[in-house]
Amino acid sequence: MALHPIGILGGTFDPIHYGHLRPALELLETLELAEVRFVPCRVPAHRAAPSVTAEQRLALARLATADQPGFVADDRELRREGPSYMVDTLASLREELGDAPLCLLLGADAFRELPSWRCWRELTRWAHLVVMRRPGATQLLPPLLAEFVAPRLLDDPLALRREPAGGILFQPVTQLDISATRIRALLARGQSPRYLLPEAVLAAIRDQALYRSLFIETSIPA
Ligand code: ATP
Repeated sequence: MALHPIGILGGTFDPIHYGHLRPALELLETLELAEVRFVPCRVPAHRAAPSVTAEQRLALARLATADQPGFVADDRELRREGPSYMVDTLASLREELGDAPLCLLLGADAFRELPSWRCWRELTRWAHLVVMRRPGATQLLPPLLAEFVAPRLLDDPLALRREPAGGILFQPVTQLDISATRIRALLARGQSPRYLLPEAVLAAIRDQALYRSLFIETSIPA
């Protein structure tokens, strides 16, 4: 088998920003992925409810990915009831895509939290894991995770094509110190998050007055 793997980047995308998009583009090119699917969660399983609706976050992800060949916004978690568990998402992608190699793309921070995810050990049954790490950074893992990684560790990106799932690859990417939390905080303070996220996303946030309640709440003088 030498199929090009399909990348999956799940997240809250509240909102999507260049810290998601740039590493995803680098992986698309360096790992020669067939595509990267951005999968916004309906209800995040691991954090407080976002301040805009899932449909609005999906629409922003669609705007951000529209002009990049190979980027796709995938709405499957919005079509499913209940909390969005990645293990269910990967199972549904596997059902749809047959034997194609799947790669779950994870930031190093998200990877460290993996043992708190539902059925986390099953993730590698459905997909490879690709951890986007800062170039040169050492990856000191908690013992539970280190034990999980050791027998699955891949050192050659080409190995991702040989099996549909099961490996773990640490791949250096340019990391941008950008978070959605910071973008929301800037909007809340009435400051501009320009250049941290695509112009089209920022224009939609402004046009639709998204994150505005946050803005109004925090900008009224005491
Ligand atoms: P928040 O600040 O609201 O927690 P976030 O900016 O971290 O959000 P998420 O939607 O939670 O974004 O992230 C989705 C995925 O993208 C996760 O795997 C996360 O590790 C990764 N990610 C987020 N920001 C970056 C970044 N700046 N560089 C690399 N990966 C990132």
